[in-house]
Amino acid sequence: MFSLEKLIRPHLLNLKPYSSARDEYTGKEGVFLDANENPFGSVGTYDYNRYPDPYQQAVKSKLSQIKGVDTSQIFVGNGSDEAIDLLLRLFCTPKQDSIIIMPPTYGMYRVSAEINEVDIIEVPLSSNFEIRLEDVLIAAENNNAKLCFVCSPNNPTGNSLNREKVLRLIENFKGIVVIDEAYIDFSSQESFTTELSKYPNLVVMQTLSKAWGLAGLRLGMAFASKEIIGFLNKIKPPYNISESTQRETLENLNLAEKTQEVVKEILKQRTLLAEQLLKLPLVEKVFDSDANFLLVKVPNPILIYNRLIEKSIIVRNRSNVLLCEGC
Ligand SMILES: *Cc1c(COP(=O)(O)O)cnc(C)c1O
Repeated sequence: MFSLEKLIRPHLLNLKPYSSARDEYTGKEGVFLDANENPFGSVGTYDYNRYPDPYQQAVKSKLSQIKGVDTSQIFVGNGSDEAIDLLLRLFCTPKQDSIIIMPPTYGMYRVSAEINEVDIIEVPLSSNFEIRLEDVLIAAENNNAKLCFVCSPNNPTGNSLNREKVLRLIENFKGIVVIDEAYIDFSSQESFTTELSKYPNLVVMQTLSKAWGLAGLRLGMAFASKEIIGFLNKIKPPYNISESTQRETLENLNLAEKTQEVVKEILKQRTLLAEQLLKLPLVEKVFDSDANFLLVKVPNPILIYNRLIEKSIIVRNRSNVLLCEGC
């Protein structure tokens, strides 16, 4: 039987969260003297003198329509990076608990765990960049791991992980499975948000930083059970999303069709670039991508990396990354 209470860090179970002025009086009209704000407005173009909605209700209600997830099951953070950090702090006691990551994968899981003094157990992907399910489950059992980070489509390999294996992982892992879907809008695969009602130990992360072209705004999402989202809301900084980010996010979310068109164009360009790269004699392999980037294998990666820089084309040198030799 799944018990969220057994996974949450004990001292957070009964945490009394900070009570903001906007928690204590939620009405919209009145003379607001309760947050010590400046009543004269801001000197710049927009007025930012009032604190933003701590629960980002307008943004969440729009996201709910777009993503098909109830607002009570949505957390929004200052980028997905905030969600990663808060999940670690919610579930993992420093110097005691551990997480599982599957390299080669996104670097922030490790950095965030290290900052929080949480042990990291690495179970590398197989040579074709798939989950080694048996090994993950054995490692999880041996170390009593609290979280398992799954990145799909995976950064830096670009592939989506096998859906059946991910589902088996969610069903058999005793902790929380966090699926990072930063690149889901470029993927031929369906989001795991459709599985949320089935699995109380599932967290799905997405972001506006990639397909939506809003990396500078800093808005990341986590979708999970109402209970997990409730705990994230308790431990987050009260005003974690600025008023300007909330305003700009809403404006962009209202233009969802435009984003769809841009994504289509990126997918066309992805195919075109892969075809053209393969025509070059120095390209050994272009890996299949379900994301907005390509992993490319060449005989002399450092030389090519530097040549590209000379031409002011900046790519990522991944040749030192496990399983990405030459890429
Ligand atoms: C780019 C990226 C993110 C985005 O993080 P934000 O903090 O939302 O900008 C998250 N996960 C992966 C795997 C990424 O590549």
